[in-house]
Amino acid sequence: MNYVKILHKLVKQKTIKLNKQLEENKRLSEEIIEKEKFKNSYFVNLSHELRTPINVIMSTVQLINTFNKDKTMTNQKSERYMNIISKNCNSLLNIINDIIDSSKIETGQYKINKNDTEIVYLVEEAALNMSKFIEDKGLSLVIDPDMEEQIIYCDEIEIERCIVNLLGNAVKFTPEGGKINIYIKEINNSIEITVEDTGIGISKEDQEFIFKKFSQVEGTGATKASSSGIGLALVKHVVELHGGYVRLESELNKGSRFIIGLPNVSEHILDSNENV
Ligand code: ADP
Repeated sequence: MNYVKILHKLVKQKTIKLNKQLEENKRLSEEIIEKEKFKNSYFVNLSHELRTPINVIMSTVQLINTFNKDKTMTNQKSERYMNIISKNCNSLLNIINDIIDSSKIETGQYKINKNDTEIVYLVEEAALNMSKFIEDKGLSLVIDPDMEEQIIYCDEIEIERCIVNLLGNAVKFTPEGGKINIYIKEINNSIEITVEDTGIGISKEDQEFIFKKFSQVEGTGATKASSSGIGLALVKHVVELHGGYVRLESELNKGSRFIIGLPNVSEHILDSNENV
């Protein structure tokens, strides 16, 4: 009798364990299916992003051919169409570079090359290079640094890329008449660069999610040329490779504030510390 009881108890325990395992497996397989669905829809979106500039290039080439046949091609026309082709090639290149970089991140091959860099100048130059693009969209830009200059140890190409990415997004998601502000401050041994816009904002649920690869908030009309859904994941990775952080403060329909914090150190200071 006792033996049967023990056996019964053991079977019961085993059944509970198996049921738990079954549930865990079910949860994992649902998670995998969800991720797969997400990836598939991302690739469908991405294909559209790639197709749009290719279509523009193809129809421009057709137009050039027609003008050439009719002998109606002028220098002015040729310059205009070459510009269109070049712009669309750049969009394609940006998307493809983003994809290559994101695979480098995954395999841990993404490297940065730090040097002493004047960060205020770097941010101002990056923003000024985009000022025409910003004005053309009917937006105003204010750059407001707390200091005149500040040297920090960072990869200038990568940090410039982060600023361009954040500014590009601010322009993309801010309707005409809006404002973009850039602040540079020193806070707790970090240099904080803030890109603030008065655009469409990001809901609380989407705020964590948008720093993940392939993330594009649905229904924002976000997917214009050169949108890969990788930009913010790259920004986060680059900043973290510097030992820094990224923060987002945003409210739907009010605007967004992306803050990147970089350690306020220069190679000079690092060297003298090592010599002590
Ligand atoms: P994408 O290449 O699609 O812009 P990102 O990683 O740069 O990819 O951004 C991911 C998503 O985060 C965007 O598709 C958009 O939905 C949202 N987003 C990013 N920046 C802003 C912003 N300044 N205002 C509103 N939404 C934004």
